Amino acid sequence: MTWINTLTESDARLDRGQPLIMRLIEAVDRLDPERLEQVYNAPLQGNVSIEESLLRAGLADEHQIARAYSDHYLLPIFDPPPEEAPPVDRQVASLLPAQLCREHRIAPLADDGTTLDVAIFSPDSLWLADDLRLLCGRHMRPFFTPLSVIEKLLHLLYPTTPGEAPASWKRDAAAVQGKSPPTLPPTRPLPPLESLGLSPRQRADLSAMLSSPHGLVLFGGPRRSGRSTSLQSCLKFLDKPNVCTIDAQEADRLTVASALRAWLRQDPDVVAVDQIRNGQTAQICVRAALTGHFVLSTLECDDAFSAVSRLAELEVDAGSLAETLQGLVCQRLVRRLCSSCRSPQKAVGRMARRYGLSEGVTVYRPVGCGDCDGTGYRGLLPIFEVIRVDPPFSRLIRQQSSLETLQRGAIAANIPLLPDSMAEAIAAGLTSFEEAMSIPPRRDRRGH
Ligand SMILES: [Zn+2]
Repeated sequence: MTWINTLTESDARLDRGQPLIMRLIEAVDRLDPERLEQVYNAPLQGNVSIEESLLRAGLADEHQIARAYSDHYLLPIFDPPPEEAPPVDRQVASLLPAQLCREHRIAPLADDGTTLDVAIFSPDSLWLADDLRLLCGRHMRPFFTPLSVIEKLLHLLYPTTPGEAPASWKRDAAAVQGKSPPTLPPTRPLPPLESLGLSPRQRADLSAMLSSPHGLVLFGGPRRSGRSTSLQSCLKFLDKPNVCTIDAQEADRLTVASALRAWLRQDPDVVAVDQIRNGQTAQICVRAALTGHFVLSTLECDDAFSAVSRLAELEVDAGSLAETLQGLVCQRLVRRLCSSCRSPQKAVGRMARRYGLSEGVTVYRPVGCGDCDGTGYRGLLPIFEVIRVDPPFSRLIRQQSSLETLQRGAIAANIPLLPDSMAEAIAAGLTSFEEAMSIPPRRDRRGH
């Protein structure tokens, strides 16, 4: 955060390290230095973007932000007159899940079967193009749109019926006591478990974990790795009528006691907690699993083993975790090679050895053609690591074993880890060595 240091020198306020939107707006209208400083000095708030901070501080208006981004990215703008309700096509609501739209502040506008027009507020959402292609099979055409318009659109497209818990999640555990627990909102077709991209062994292990009557299954990976999609696919696979879901912000507000009290009354078949972000949420998940619930949740982590150490950092008791954890699914999304233009080559050298590929095996590299907009890649490919917690692995968790010990245990049990699944995808010509950079080789191969 080097730009924070420049604040004290008023003339150096706007340097290259500053958020793009500030530089864009500064180019047109001078920003008030004092208020700008307030934005910088305000504590970082979880889900509030720099654009929203600018709005709240009154430094820019939403039309200005949409215009600045539209000019900069040479993308269209969607800014209907504020006094009119924005035109909506209710058909498009089913293409994108409400929760995704709310989380990223995007809204579907129109669909012609191949292209989905999407209102976006921040350029961060441009990164969603690949996810959207995967989700609904459409190319995304983004329109920079004022935030209030997106909020109106979301309200019209994904209304909540009065008397019902808000479409996605519970506001307060106490408020829902006595009501039936909210279920997941109906969303666009999810990839069924069979087509997630798991190997037969991984699929068998995952089905075994999901057949447990209680316990905890965690889906790990960095942001935008598709871990939530996997969780949702598992929920769909489980097909239980009584699913209680809680989003991350919600989970942050719940206390362990209030959550458990609500669940004891409602007795859900499955509890799905959007994301474990802090110790309290981790406790809620483990306690719910200990009290006989089946709990699914996601966690931001690099691999399955670091999920275990992350929970230890969040002060989850090793004994309770060993007792409840049924399994870990960890994943990455890499780019899928364009099959029209990929070019074969022989795997040689250090890279091949580090991923355990034999010398001379055929792998592919990206080239670029009209089908893939010259990038050499088309679509995304999930790479998985699925670890079913069996008694030996559970013992390792109870003993608070190191990451290395946990990994050695998995290798001894012949469980394919992320680098192994990556190597398999490379050998199958689905992706390239270039994409493997996001997945470090196995620890026991790093010296090679
Ligand atoms: Zn191509």
